[in-house]
Amino acid sequence: MTNRDHLIAFDSDGCVFDNMEFKHKACFVPSFIEFFGFQDTPLQAREVWEFVNLYSTTRGINRFKGLKLSLDLARTRCAESGGDPSRELSPPPSIPPSPDLDSWIAGARQLSNASLEAEIRTSGSRELENVLAWSLDVNRRLQEGSPRPFPAAAEAVARAEQRARVCVVSQAPGTTLRRDWDSHGLSPLVEHIFSQEDGTKEEHLRRVLKEHPLPGERVLLAGDAPGDYAAAAAAGVLFFPVIPGAEEPSWEEFLREGLPRFFQGTFAGDYARDLHRRFESALPETPPWERPAQPEGT
Ligand SMILES: [Mg+2]
Repeated sequence: MTNRDHLIAFDSDGCVFDNMEFKHKACFVPSFIEFFGFQDTPLQAREVWEFVNLYSTTRGINRFKGLKLSLDLARTRCAESGGDPSRELSPPPSIPPSPDLDSWIAGARQLSNASLEAEIRTSGSRELENVLAWSLDVNRRLQEGSPRPFPAAAEAVARAEQRARVCVVSQAPGTTLRRDWDSHGLSPLVEHIFSQEDGTKEEHLRRVLKEHPLPGERVLLAGDAPGDYAAAAAAGVLFFPVIPGAEEPSWEEFLREGLPRFFQGTFAGDYARDLHRRFESALPETPPWERPAQPEGT
């Protein structure tokens, strides 16, 4: 067994794998429109879904939480548009409340298809049956994709593995993760692939650190979403941000500076703060349709 005294955890979707655009635009959005009644207003549905799941501080969130946030935001947008015919877009339809989804998310220990099926067996909720049908439809669409890793990310995983224990922490289903990491020869480089069936990313980190205790400055999580940063902070470990829209330069920086600093013990402090500042400025909190219009020429 290895005596490696560093651990690097990699998020998968949108971080090592260049799959966020396909996953959300070709899989989640069409299923969201089909299963939640947005057939007459697909443009608003797409904008809401993409803001929540790709282009804001909630990027990379668990799919069921992303669904709840998207439905909530679509309802707010619907109420605010008020059917004004002068608006460029027609108003979204009235979106029914989703009390069963909301209470399942608030109370479930795990947010996965398996735990949703168990909840449906207990409650018989028709609303949750639709959520499950949507989630399975998304998985069916995802099967048609064959995501590729960012080239420098694949090199980063290989380089990390030479000196550190490596694992995957993700909120994607385990079957999809194993397919992706197997098909690009990356699975042999990682000790464990943690998925949505294994709980949150913070729980993944705590599990592996319980088995192999290490001080926080010898553990690094690489991720592309604020939720990844939050998981790293909660587990008391370092974070390397892969900046959405600048993934390849981020991985090149990881290879050039982040990884050497991590192994030398000079990652924390000014360097980590500078990375985090750049990361935060890449993802907004407010949807574009709620921001004040910029005057022309500025
Ligand atoms: Mg991600």
